[in-house]
Parts: sequence; structure tokens; C-alpha cells
Amino acid sequence: MIQENLAQVRENIRKACEKSGRDPKEVTLLAVSKTMPSSVLEEAYHAGNRAFGENKVQEIMDKSPVLPGDIQWHMIGHLQRNKVKYIVDKVCLIHSVDSLRLAEEISIQAGKKHVEADILVEVNIAQEESKFGVAPEETAKLALEIAKLPHIHVKGLMAVAPFVEDPEDNRKYFQKIYNLSVDIQQLNTDNISMAVLSMGMTGDYMVAIEEGATIVRVGTGIFGERNYQSKESCR
Ligand SMILES: *Cc1c(COP(=O)(O)O)cnc(C)c1O
Repeated sequence: MIQENLAQVRENIRKACEKSGRDPKEVTLLAVSKTMPSSVLEEAYHAGNRAFGENKVQEIMDKSPVLPGDIQWHMIGHLQRNKVKYIVDKVCLIHSVDSLRLAEEISIQAGKKHVEADILVEVNIAQEESKFGVAPEETAKLALEIAKLPHIHVKGLMAVAPFVEDPEDNRKYFQKIYNLSVDIQQLNTDNISMAVLSMGMTGDYMVAIEEGATIVRVGTGIFGERNYQSKESCR
């Protein structure tokens, strides 16, 4: 099942690239494996997937030691400062940086572990109360502040678009993120790259690719519906 789903998502990525004149090699499929057990990730690994996204530090710590070493782990969820030290040397990209205080902690912990941390600035693109991320108009300022810190490198932007029935409704937000990245790139600052745009999920990744996404984060479309049940019953 997972193998078929992956093949379908890859085909959709290819189509979206074709439609927008892009090279599919520019787009990374990040399999969002939160709540899934390691055995399920293994299945995706054997179907050729190497990039996995998790939104909890604990899940990265549990899964990374028991799965193959060539997996690229991405932290895509809200990150608490006191947990940075557990994952800073285990993930290849932190998508969810939305404050200078968090960036400072990442900088410190990366220094201690002798690694360089690549990060994205998370933008609350539709200004939703329920979402994390910095306001669009504050994004450049935050990126400029982070760029001054050692051992941390701004590689682009990340956004979680609103939940919508029709993916076309999110096109304007993906365009906004793209335009914001162009504006920030034009500041031409050392230690800020806008090469990575992490946007688009199961419901809208094809539209996101048409508007410039370089990483799409797909969970349900690969692994099926998530079951949060077991966690509820532990409370
Ligand atoms: C869960 C999650 C996804 C994947 O969502 P699907 O709709 O299942 O594809 C993508 N990005 C973030 C930040 C998530 O938390």
C-alpha cells in the first residue's frame, strides 16, 4: 500500500513539475511519518524514500536509532528550546524556527555538538491564530538576526497553509511565500539563502509545486489517516 501511495505521489509531483516547467529533481518529497511506528517507515524506506519528517522530538529520538543511518530526518513541528539539544545533531533541517530565542538555542547547541544547523524560518502565511510562525512582515527581520549567529544557517522558508477543501484556495498563500523569499533573497545577505521553500501537504502539494515549493511534506497521502487514539487514552 505504502509503495503504491509513494509511486502515486511521485507521479503527481512529476505532473506538477511538467505543468509548471520545473525539473522534478528540484522537489524533495518529505514523507511525514509522525505517529507512524518504525515498521511503517521501514516500508517507505524499502520503497526508496529517504527523507522523513517528524513533528515531535521524542519520535525522532525513538525512531532514528532503529532505522537505517542514511535516512534524512527533518524536524517540522513546533520546537521547544529545552529540547533542541536532543535533535540538533540528528536532523538535516529544522523547518520550524519562528523566534530569535529558539534560533539562539539552536546556535548554542550546534556549537556544543560541533555541527552546523540548517534551518527554515516558519511563516504564518495566512495569519491564523492557531498556527505557529512569524508574521510575513517580520520574516526578513528575523532572518537577518538569525544570520548573525554562529553554527546556524538560514536556508529558506516554511509555511503551513490553511486547511481547505479546494487546494486552489491556497495558491495565493504559496505565491506570497514565494514572493517573500524573492524579497529576502534580494537583500543579498551573507548566511541567508532562500533556496528552500517547504510548503504543500497532502491536500495541496501539487499547487505548492506549481508556485515554487522545493520540499513538499506529505503524510496522509503516503501513510493513510493518522490514528491519535492511543495517545488520547494515555492521558
Ligand atoms: C502533519 C504535517 C504535515 C503532513 O500533513 P498531511 O496532510 O497528512 O500530508 C505537513 N506539515 C506539517 C508541519 C505537519 O505537522
